[in-house]
Amino acid sequence: MIDLTGKTAIVTGGARGIGKAIVLRLAGAGADVAVSDIDLAGAEAVAAEVQAMGRKSLAMKGDVSKLAEAEALIEGTLAAWGHLDILVNNAGITRDGLLVRMEEAQWDSVIAVNLKGTFNGVKAAARVMMKQHAGKIINIASVVGVMGNAGQANYAASKAGVIGLTKSAAKELGGRNIQVNAVAPGYIETDMTKDLPQSARESFLTLIPLKRPGTAQDVADIVLFLASPLADYVTGQVLHADGGMVM
Ligand code: NDP
Repeated sequence: MIDLTGKTAIVTGGARGIGKAIVLRLAGAGADVAVSDIDLAGAEAVAAEVQAMGRKSLAMKGDVSKLAEAEALIEGTLAAWGHLDILVNNAGITRDGLLVRMEEAQWDSVIAVNLKGTFNGVKAAARVMMKQHAGKIINIASVVGVMGNAGQANYAASKAGVIGLTKSAAKELGGRNIQVNAVAPGYIETDMTKDLPQSARESFLTLIPLKRPGTAQDVADIVLFLASPLADYVTGQVLHADGGMVM
């Protein structure tokens, strides 16, 4: 059994969906977890669930695309708990559209949250973890960052960027005993995917050998492994939570 008692974690975009499942999975394994989101009320509700499990929690409002807010998140957690063991950069958005019709704002917002937001988190946490000579950073990418997707050029580019960032950070930080890995979810049923047309849903299912959509829990289980001592010798990897969609 994985035991994270005494460990502290931050999960961005933790108010709902995959982020919420990750928060509860880490807390269920014994970690104290700070929940960050642009939706403070949502973060507070999840933090209350963590406290009801007997773990410590903090709810913090933060926009990951702003470096100062990412730094404040790390500093606030450090001030409360004295150390930061696990950072999960999960916050992400979509602003889909075909390439030729894509507005500059659609491109910029997705790159700002998904890619720059992950950079901001890694940069802010790395300073703390380098001093500790220990830490685990897990970035949530996507299979779309590996295989591309029509209508998601901005999102695919942001997630491919997250994978390159993950590998570079793993190489830079490995000497300080900091593991940096990514999880690439496939088609996961959350609010982000609930409005997909039935035809798109069916065509995704034809690509999945395990013949079902993924759940937020499926992703959280892989994050738990990467956050645990079982993954002490794993870094720079992209683990797919996709039912075999990409292999
Ligand atoms: P959801 O949209 O359900 O949840 C995302 C959370 O992130 C929301 O609480 C949202 O807040 C928050 N958020 C959005 N922008 C910011 C920001 N700038 N700063 C902080 N928090 C923010 O998404 P999912 O749970 O489905 O996705 C989680 C991650 O998994 C994302 O990185 C996504 O790209 C990735 N992923 C998801 C897949 C899927 O099929 N669902 C597949 C592959 C990857 P608010 O509610 O206020 O918008």
